[in-house]
Amino acid sequence: MIDPQPDWNALTAQAGDLLRRLFPLCRSITGDGLRATLNLLRQTTDFSLTEIPSGAVCYDWIVPDEWNVRDAFIADSKGRRIIDFKANNIHLVNYSIPFEGTLTFDELVPHLHTLPDLPNAIPYRTTYYDRTWGFCLTHEQFQKLDKKEKFHVLVDATLAPGNLTYGDALLPGKSGQEYLISTYVCHPSLANDNLSGVVLWTLMLSELRHRTLWNSYRFIIAPETIGALAYISRNEGAVRRLSGGYVATTVAGPGRFGYKSTWRGDSVIDRAVRLTFKELGLDFIEYPFDVNGSDERQYSTPGLRLPVGTICKDKYYEYPFYHTSLDNLDFISAGNLVETLKLYLLAIEKLEQNRTYRSLNPIGEPMLGKRGLYPQTGGAIKQKLASADIHAERGYVVDAGNILYGIELDAIRWVLFYSDGQTPLMEVAEQTGLPMKQLHEVAEKLAATGLLEEVRASTC
Ligand code: ZN
Repeated sequence: MIDPQPDWNALTAQAGDLLRRLFPLCRSITGDGLRATLNLLRQTTDFSLTEIPSGAVCYDWIVPDEWNVRDAFIADSKGRRIIDFKANNIHLVNYSIPFEGTLTFDELVPHLHTLPDLPNAIPYRTTYYDRTWGFCLTHEQFQKLDKKEKFHVLVDATLAPGNLTYGDALLPGKSGQEYLISTYVCHPSLANDNLSGVVLWTLMLSELRHRTLWNSYRFIIAPETIGALAYISRNEGAVRRLSGGYVATTVAGPGRFGYKSTWRGDSVIDRAVRLTFKELGLDFIEYPFDVNGSDERQYSTPGLRLPVGTICKDKYYEYPFYHTSLDNLDFISAGNLVETLKLYLLAIEKLEQNRTYRSLNPIGEPMLGKRGLYPQTGGAIKQKLASADIHAERGYVVDAGNILYGIELDAIRWVLFYSDGQTPLMEVAEQTGLPMKQLHEVAEKLAATGLLEEVRASTC
């Protein structure tokens, strides 16, 4: 990919704007909040929307009725709202059925959810497939409830046949390899899980759309589980042809970067991420594959077996504010989100550069000097080397998140050495410690002089 560097400051401003505008919307696995979110994202970059009707069968699952909420609250006998959906939409258990009534404290309590260990946080709860209603509140709010009070409860919601909405876009490439970039968009006002992933997915689509791509990328944005299954059931052939991919989730917290590996653990999806962290000299936590998680659960099932990984920053399950009202816009930042976006883009760049070459001069080293390939003194290393942090042991440098260059003659010799028609550049980078970007540039230069030819090889 010979492309200009993204304008990171502009992307950060754009991420911040999207986070602020989307955070208040009441999303769910169906409904108008989901549609409004997808339509707002489409103002940033276009993708298709598909509506799947309630009752549609998606393998072992059925698309539920569509859920929409106008209002919901618990009021005291004077009509004062104690718990108000309009103040924070996670106060209402997501997918609560319509209800209106006056209840005693004892009658109300079975419908309330709190977190005694995090008493100032509202928990996030759902009841997609169990038809009931409930409210979530802080434990501090709960302890202030008057046990002698009569509570007026209203859940002004509809749960009726409608549709589940998902979005997708295909960015075409030439290699014959196609990768998945997926995220889930069903969580309401929760920032890291997963508004951050939704915004990152959108900016990544917007960014890659302007590049000349070698591989194809299938972008899917859907409600978690049922939305992914709805997509797969309507596009099974296309999903089967995928070589693997990433699920973007929990990407903007203040904590450490993490990587949840694919079920295979050693696919190009995993190796591209590990190389990215290694080349940047960045510390991260590696989480082994687990059957708990996000939509990689669906893509990894026996009938599909796609290797799907996740780069995150404060991974779901791991941070104390997970699935609570404290996972809000104060917890995350647009800057963190864009730092993780850089990692995804660098990992994808590695998938783009993972070409395999065959030497057309396979016996004996080719004479570089007569082709102008033998670097002149002072020209062997890019000029930025002098001012950047030198990773001397590997011979390459990192500056402001961009992997730079090592000694070009080394890169030329290693690429020539491994041009046996069987060794992709990702393996060359792993074996030599040289930056993949440089190996790719050198290989293209050698191919242009007729010393190498590219061969098509399975890269997964
Ligand atoms: Zn979640």
